[in-house]
Amino acid sequence: MRRFFAEKLDISGGEAVLCGDEARHIKNVLRYKTGDEVLLIDGGGAETLAEIVSLGDNEVRLALKESRACPADPEVRVTLFQCLPKQGKMELIIQKCVELGVSEIVPAASKRCVVKLDGKDNKLARWNKVSAEAAKQCGRATVPAVKAPISLDKADLSGFALVLIPYENEGETTLKSVLRGREAPASIAVIIGPEGGFEPAEVEDVLNKGGVAVSLGRRILRTETAGMAAVAQIMYELEQ
Ligand code: SAM
Repeated sequence: MRRFFAEKLDISGGEAVLCGDEARHIKNVLRYKTGDEVLLIDGGGAETLAEIVSLGDNEVRLALKESRACPADPEVRVTLFQCLPKQGKMELIIQKCVELGVSEIVPAASKRCVVKLDGKDNKLARWNKVSAEAAKQCGRATVPAVKAPISLDKADLSGFALVLIPYENEGETTLKSVLRGREAPASIAVIIGPEGGFEPAEVEDVLNKGGVAVSLGRRILRTETAGMAAVAQIMYELEQ
């Protein structure tokens, strides 16, 4: 069944109104008729079965039926703190990590980032659009937020059940061993370094805040690969 992201989902009295591109797509491209059913998604995590009751030029009215939690969204909330990569990689990282189940992405500036923090806010709208498109494509009902970039040493890690810092010099502890040795955490922070990796003091700072340094395997992954690998391994291990 087709799903429609309705950022402007106007729900009142058991009805919804879809406007703009989504409405035109339903009417003129898909040529849906009254009585046809679709899934409405507002980006907040639920999906609602709805039946088309009328089709106008710029709006489609629908009667709402049952809502449910979206099976494509994972229970575990993974927040990726991605140290700013060189130009053009962030969109790939966002797209792939949203497909893999990340819940939030926080661009971070660390000591060895080549790209500087200033002026990244103007990329936020584009980055969040990439997230919304990826969420829609992979059938999620939640659109992971890409937050405003922060300095890594200012990251608030206190609210996470588990904080992982995949560290290229970590030779012992694997992500698997950390996840298998405990109950499935409800929320995980994953901190990925830039192309130049982490300064040892940065890793130390995260460990002092309760983080765990883990290896992602025997090979050194590119920064744009490492976040995807970490999220994929978490979802595999937690079967989500
Ligand atoms: N400059 C580093 C070096 O040559 O050793 C490589 C940094 S790597 C390109 C970027 C980030 O990906 C690292 O800081 C780390 O967060 C993550 N990463 C890459 N490979 C990893 C591995 N095998 N184990 C753990 N983390 C890894």
